[in-house]
Amino acid sequence: MNKDIATPVRTRAILEKYGFSFKKSLGQNFLIDTNILNRIVDHANLTDESGVIEVGPGIGALTEQIARRSKKVVAFEIDQRLLPILEETLAPYGNTTIIHSDVLKADVASMMATEFAGFTDVMVVANLPYYVTTPIIMKLLEEKLPIRGIVVMLQKEVAERIAAKPGTKDYGSLSIAVQYYTEAETVMIVPKTVFVPQPNVDSAVIRLTVRTTPKVAVKSEAFFFQITKASFAQRRKTILNNLISQLPEGKEKKEEILAALSKVHIEPTRRGETLSIEEFAVLSDALLPHFQ
Ligand code: SAM
Repeated sequence: MNKDIATPVRTRAILEKYGFSFKKSLGQNFLIDTNILNRIVDHANLTDESGVIEVGPGIGALTEQIARRSKKVVAFEIDQRLLPILEETLAPYGNTTIIHSDVLKADVASMMATEFAGFTDVMVVANLPYYVTTPIIMKLLEEKLPIRGIVVMLQKEVAERIAAKPGTKDYGSLSIAVQYYTEAETVMIVPKTVFVPQPNVDSAVIRLTVRTTPKVAVKSEAFFFQITKASFAQRRKTILNNLISQLPEGKEKKEEILAALSKVHIEPTRRGETLSIEEFAVLSDALLPHFQ
């Protein structure tokens, strides 16, 4: 077997050879612990038939471990300086493809149609750049890509918000947006010491298993997400007051909101954080005719 990329000695040698300097603005914190990398890959439950999409391969530390345990990896990397490095480090792995692109601007669906045609199992596995974790996860989910799930490293605090249950301080519109599409769980807490350079925040790995149908059925997805965001606009305010201040002006706005809340048996004095996703679904359907 080839020597691992992710040992501290090999990583340092690669970085020195290419005179590579980390760009904080691109969230470049590379993993230097093969044990952690393998545990991340374990959580994706890959087989030798699996396809994997990676975001931000860096110098290929995680890409290599995925390549050994899947059929094919396609990785999006924004930083051109990493391309010649990846060409060298991933040379032994013919089942890897690097796309030089900002993943947020990439057409991931058409990439999948060409690169993963005939695959029945595709996962996203990545150590995400922390400045854009939420936009990347939301893009992958909102595009309704044919993926089984997402296993990614991110800030521990964001992981807690994503997996939060109603009635907790971390529960909010991000928890609802992600749990609408997936079953979310935090599977690992990761210390700062396994990165170079070390990030300022603690890290965690989450696993998002895509649901075959969304957790709740709603008449308008866009309006459902608008209502959940509005309900958490100011966490200390009641649901009634948040909806009054966030929904568009109307002649009898307060009365209409009160009527909708009463119809679905939600007390107007409750706070957004106490409502389950099912309650948000019936509430948004009840409000929809008034605010369409
Ligand atoms: N996978 C490597 C590892 O675990 O050591 C590197 C992970 S590092 C946290 C994040 C990587 O994402 C960097 O290589 C960075 O250049 C890349 N990146 C940052 N923003 C990106 C974007 N918008 N699209 C694609 N790659 C991005």
